[in-house]
Amino acid sequence: MGPAAVSRASAATTATAGVPRALWAHHPESAARLAPWVRFARVTAVAASNLSRLLRRGDGGVIGGTVALRMAPDILTRLGRGRVLACVSGTNGKTTATRLSAMALGTRLPVISNSSGANLTAGLVTTLCRHRTGRAVLEVDEMYLAGVVRSVQPRVVVLLNLSRDQLDRTAEPHRIAASWRAALCDARSCIVVANCDDPRVTWAAAGAANVVWVSAGQSWTGDSYVCPACGDVLHRGIAGTHVTWHCPRCGLARPDPDAALTGRRLTLRGVGSWRVTLSLPGRANRANAAMAAVAAHVLGVPVHEALSSMRDIDAVEGRYGVHTIDGVACRLILAKNPAGWAETIDLVGENDRPLVLAVNARPVDGLDTSWLYDVPFERLAGRRLWVTGAAAVDLSLRLSYGRVPHRLVRDVSAAVRDWSTHRAIPAPPEGAAPVDVTPAGCIDVIADYSNFRQLRSHPQITGRPSTDRTAISPRTIAVRSTSVARGPRPGRAL
Ligand SMILES: [Zn+2]
Repeated sequence: MGPAAVSRASAATTATAGVPRALWAHHPESAARLAPWVRFARVTAVAASNLSRLLRRGDGGVIGGTVALRMAPDILTRLGRGRVLACVSGTNGKTTATRLSAMALGTRLPVISNSSGANLTAGLVTTLCRHRTGRAVLEVDEMYLAGVVRSVQPRVVVLLNLSRDQLDRTAEPHRIAASWRAALCDARSCIVVANCDDPRVTWAAAGAANVVWVSAGQSWTGDSYVCPACGDVLHRGIAGTHVTWHCPRCGLARPDPDAALTGRRLTLRGVGSWRVTLSLPGRANRANAAMAAVAAHVLGVPVHEALSSMRDIDAVEGRYGVHTIDGVACRLILAKNPAGWAETIDLVGENDRPLVLAVNARPVDGLDTSWLYDVPFERLAGRRLWVTGAAAVDLSLRLSYGRVPHRLVRDVSAAVRDWSTHRAIPAPPEGAAPVDVTPAGCIDVIADYSNFRQLRSHPQITGRPSTDRTAISPRTIAVRSTSVARGPRPGRAL
């Protein structure tokens, strides 16, 4: 990141600072007119999507786009013409940041978004086929972002973070960063809103013509030890309230931010400062809100309006939603990779609720579970903890090496029942109000994607039959350290 790029970033901010450009407001209400065969593909896509919903095969978020792409392979480019588009991408938080951005940008004018999280090409096509609205906020899978940027020429791209996810699919985050960098270098009219605390995001955005740097934080540095430009080890330090980083060999360094989130306060240089108050929990969501608010500002929506619109959102696509399982309120939290789990462990550290950890490691999650050893599960020592899911034994072994007492259970219901029994509070009859079994009245369930999806639709069913009511504690590990690898055995209760 050179000084020239920083000054270009500052210039972009200045241009949108005092008097916003109002790009969002001064744009036609509808997308450009389509050629006849593309219109036909669009109508067919909507029909396929609606049929899928009618037959209860899904929400139709993918099939419509798949059909349309078969009929008109360049339909995404054509659907993007004449629209103002904002794309949100990153390894973690993109669904939430997209929802927050859509809320912010929709305060004054209609906006469409792929709110169901269908963030591959087919999902984006379905969203743009379904609606002719001229303004859209699109969540884009990080592997697909470069292609989408080239296809639709978005006005704004929001880059949240970049780290390992699904090792068998996105094994090398640097390759993704390189694809972002190449695409953004070519997108000269695009304004990139980038988290400058993430070195890989900074490197990817540094070649863009217009960058607004946001210090949104990076609590997980496990995937950014080395410089993305030259491979030397990065040096990290503290400057005031923020972490800094630089490369001693090539000079790549954290840019001076145009906007910064400090605790619960968002400050835009030369514009103002606002308190970020959300119903969503945790630092990561405040970072998502900060990124969304800056993106809204770039497009002409006042920051205070943007932040105000986000305040009452308490769940996004099931994330942080509260389900009643066997009469007990359970908050559902999605965590998919080392960075996400690390943020989530910070989040649940804000209370002392019982925890259920659910890991399946199915294809949609990534089959390789070696990353479990990078997650700081040791911080959960002392918590009331249950483990479930198809890969529960993998996670149990990891916790055992970290000397974190826990119980293996068949499913989340078993954990809830175990907790109720442990507390000597009987589960309420069917249909009765949830029992307030904890000071906070809730159990937190942290689940990988397949567990999360299952729990969201069928809260009583998850995981697979496993060794129920089996406890592992530091004492049992110490006694039989060589037997742990063969799986847990009955032991001392928590
Ligand atoms: Zn370097």
